[in-house]
Amino acid sequence: MRKPFIAGNWKMNLERKSALDLVARIKEHVGARDDVDVAVFPPFVYVDEVARALRGSKIAVGAQNCCDEPHGAFTGEISAAQLADVGATLVILGHSERRHVYGEGNELVNRKVHAALDKGLAVILCVGETLEQRQAKQTEKVIGGQLTAGLAGVSARDLLKITIAYEPVWAIGTGQVATAKQAGEAHAYLRGVLGGVYTDSLADQTRIQYGGSVKPDNVKELLLVPDVDGCLVGGASLKAETFLPLIDGRRMR
Ligand code: PEP
Repeated sequence: MRKPFIAGNWKMNLERKSALDLVARIKEHVGARDDVDVAVFPPFVYVDEVARALRGSKIAVGAQNCCDEPHGAFTGEISAAQLADVGATLVILGHSERRHVYGEGNELVNRKVHAALDKGLAVILCVGETLEQRQAKQTEKVIGGQLTAGLAGVSARDLLKITIAYEPVWAIGTGQVATAKQAGEAHAYLRGVLGGVYTDSLADQTRIQYGGSVKPDNVKELLLVPDVDGCLVGGASLKAETFLPLIDGRRMR
């Protein structure tokens, strides 16, 4: 049984006060619940303070990216060890904005996955096709390729520290959410790929989140899809009014 995992990717939004106000609301809302896993991903500069604010809670704190190198002359980069040092336990890698705005390719994403795992961070590995790729019926080829390349060299034991996020690029920040059918097909395909590379049992244990314009009014339908194990949320994670209902999404069943 896979526990739903709801993650808020704040991107380059919020500042100290609004970040701390938001996590106070999330902390109060989640309390001691153990029917859902919740994580927030603040901008790097707030990871430390948010992690302190959430200490003793069940909410995890992660970063939105990390460097593929452990240390050295990499101006502007942040290492996995530095993130772990300030309380991050997770990192999002291969997000579509990293891939498409900053040109990160599968090989770099894979090096980052190893860098994060080496320092004990869990990973949310994002995959997703563009609208053109979907229209050209390339969805499976693209997301299967991103998945296998991103996980190259990752052991079965380390796979247990990885969550996959299926995030169609055309759905991110656009208000155009994937249908339950589209999400279900992509998630089932990804789970099949995981089963082929690892084992069916490991594939069955791996959580696959959906991401792309998830909102309180569409979360219920998405979380009813058997292979959808939670959501990676951008815009709706920035306000308690829209994020807290997502945490309760599965309860609506
Ligand atoms: C995201 O950035 O991962 C995301 C899914 O954004 P949004 O929810 O705003 O579409």
